[in-house]
Amino acid sequence: MKKIQMVDLKGQYKNIKQQVDSSIMDVIETTAFINGPEVHEFQKELEEYLNVKHVIPCANGTDALQIAMMGLGLKPEDEVITADFTFAATVEVIALLGLTPVLVDVDPVTFNIDVEAVKRAITPKTKAIVPVHLFGLASDMDAIMAIAREHDLYVIEDNAQGIGADYISADGSKQKTGTIGHVAATSFFPSKNLGCYGDGGAIFTNDDELAHTIRGIVNHGMYVRYHHDVVGVNSRLDSIQAAVLRAKLPHLDEYNNARKKTATKYSEAFKDIPEIVTPQNCEACKSDKYEDCNCHVFHQYTLRFKNTDRDALVKYLTDKDIPCGVYYPIPLHLQKAYRDERYKEEDFVVTNQLVKEVLSLPMHTELDDEQINYIAKSVIEFIKG
Ligand SMILES: *Cc1c(COP(=O)(O)O)cnc(C)c1O
Repeated sequence: MKKIQMVDLKGQYKNIKQQVDSSIMDVIETTAFINGPEVHEFQKELEEYLNVKHVIPCANGTDALQIAMMGLGLKPEDEVITADFTFAATVEVIALLGLTPVLVDVDPVTFNIDVEAVKRAITPKTKAIVPVHLFGLASDMDAIMAIAREHDLYVIEDNAQGIGADYISADGSKQKTGTIGHVAATSFFPSKNLGCYGDGGAIFTNDDELAHTIRGIVNHGMYVRYHHDVVGVNSRLDSIQAAVLRAKLPHLDEYNNARKKTATKYSEAFKDIPEIVTPQNCEACKSDKYEDCNCHVFHQYTLRFKNTDRDALVKYLTDKDIPCGVYYPIPLHLQKAYRDERYKEEDFVVTNQLVKEVLSLPMHTELDDEQINYIAKSVIEFIKG
């Protein structure tokens, strides 16, 4: 059996090596390292794939979140609501801009922001909601957009883990995550579903005016060369990374399908184990029609373990050369940097429970059946003792 990796970037590279190598060499030959044609072409191709009016590439996903908030003109003391159970980048940029982060609990089934908790957290100072499409599953955008309309709030989608995922509204219409709110941020960190070979990110919006504002912000606040109209930043996607992303974008659906196929096999193996709660997976995903269904793109395949010593399981799997990860081990409201006396433990019941129960299994585009079976068998072995 091939050695199991949490993420197998090398195996994936081997299949697209020729395209990637020649694209990188072309950039080097032309020396258009910054804002070269590859960046512009990638931007257009991603706009088309997502069906969104504007993609603004930038240096990484954290910058993308920050720039989106700067573009919306959020001001110190404005309150921004986001999920307690996510990667820290989201809350970090809110705090960095002097805005007030308001963390709320998540839903125990989807792991995404709890819309009832969002409603309870709204005050006259609330200006925006940041739903995170955690692990590749869309947040409840119908409900979030309805709350935003009612209270006149901005919605900034953190789509770093959700690229390629579809959100299906109650009326049956289908949109890509990251194209529903006022603005969205994504990351092309190597291990993300669409990853480059270094850092990269992008902002998406359908709002022409906001797109114009953001294009200036990423470039030192310049709209006309050497005229600085607003305080900006320097945040660029470099041409070599854009070339890698152009080579990978045509494979994104195929990559996401490979992830879903793996998730379906894992979930099938665990379905009769009462201690294991498998991730939400719709009927279409579970059937052989999953090729048509992109409701979950499985950036992570994350299980909840009931009545199980999760940390002993981690050790058991590690000893068997099966990598695994706890995403995330500490709720953001308990992190030293983000503690706030307004937070009460009873408002974070789900997150406090999830951090003890979750475990993510290896998930990437190159897992084969032998590996998947070995991983599933080992997990079940541990549970059954
Ligand atoms: C990866 C990630 C980010 C940050 O992206 P970087 O490119 O690493 O800066 C932000 N939010 C979430 C949910 C992420 O998973």
